[in-house]
Amino acid sequence: LSGEAITAGQIDGLKTHFPLCMRNLHSSLRRDKHLRHFGRLQYGLFLKGIGLSIDEALVFWRQAFSKFTDEQFNKEYRYNIRHSYGLQGAGRNYSPYSCQQILMDHPPGTGDAHGCPFRHFSVDNLMLAMESQMGIGNEEKSVQSGVKQDVAARKYHLACNRVFEHLHERELKREKDGGGGSSMRETIVHPNEWFDRSWNLKN
Ligand code: SF4
Repeated sequence: LSGEAITAGQIDGLKTHFPLCMRNLHSSLRRDKHLRHFGRLQYGLFLKGIGLSIDEALVFWRQAFSKFTDEQFNKEYRYNIRHSYGLQGAGRNYSPYSCQQILMDHPPGTGDAHGCPFRHFSVDNLMLAMESQMGIGNEEKSVQSGVKQDVAARKYHLACNRVFEHLHERELKREKDGGGGSSMRETIVHPNEWFDRSWNLKN
C-alpha cells in the first residue's frame, strides 16, 4: 500500500500503522468532529503522504467535520485543504512535517491536538495516551519506564522508536533472523517513515 492511493474509508483501519502523534490527532478528530488549524495541517499532510488524493481528502474531511453544514465546510475548510495540496493560492505543494518540525514549530496550546505527545504531553497524559492509543499499559512496565527515561533526557525520538520496536517486536525479530533489514534499525525521524515501516513489516 505504501506509495499507492488510499481512500477516505480506509483511514480508520490504517490507524494501527500510525505513530502516537497521528493516532492522537485521529482520535481527537473523531471525538470532536473538528481539528484546529495546525492539527489539520499536521494530520492532513501526513494523510497526503500516505497516499490520500485531494479528492479523497475532501471526502475524508467533509465526513469527519460532520457537525458543520456543507456551506460552513466549503467556506471555512475546503480552501485550506486544497491549498495544502498546492491547488489554491501560490500553488506551493506542502510536504508532510518531519518529527523535527513537529517537535520544534508551533507548540500546541490548550485545546490543540497537534504536536508530539512525547514532548508536549505531561508524563501522566503520555502514559494514558500510550495505553488508550497503543495498548501499552501498566503490564508493559519496561516500555513505560524506558519511555519515561527517554523523555526526561529529552530524547523524544528515542521514546517513539522504543514504542515502535515494542509494537513490532515479533516482525523485527523475524526479519533479523531472516538476515534482512539492517537499515530498518535506523532511527525513525518522520511520522510517514513510521507508517511506511510499520506497513512494510506487517504486510
Ligand atoms: Fe510523531 Fe515523531 Fe513525535 Fe513520534 S517522535 S510521536 S512520529 S512527532
